[in-house]
Amino acid sequence: MEQEQMDSMDVCRYPKVLKRLCMNCGQFMDSEYGVASDYLEQGLRLSDEEITRLKDTNSSRLFAEKKLQLVLDLDNTLLHSKLFKDLKPKEKYL
Ligand SMILES: [Zn+2]
Repeated sequence: MEQEQMDSMDVCRYPKVLKRLCMNCGQFMDSEYGVASDYLEQGLRLSDEEITRLKDTNSSRLFAEKKLQLVLDLDNTLLHSKLFKDLKPKEKYL
């Protein structure tokens, strides 16, 4: 277990950088590293990988709370709305 933690330290991928310091290992980072995420915390920058991970986590959470289904339904509705323009006249009674 301890060895595992050592390994993850060795291969830090700098998921979160606050005021140019990696929040995981303390590495000093380039000021342009990652994606500015000041809306979460002033001076916070996240790696692309971390953003993807957070989105996946968020999707999983929404799915678990049965909120994601609403988004998919809305998407479907918009798809059908777009298609309505292309309906043939005899289909428009729908
Ligand atoms: Zn790090």
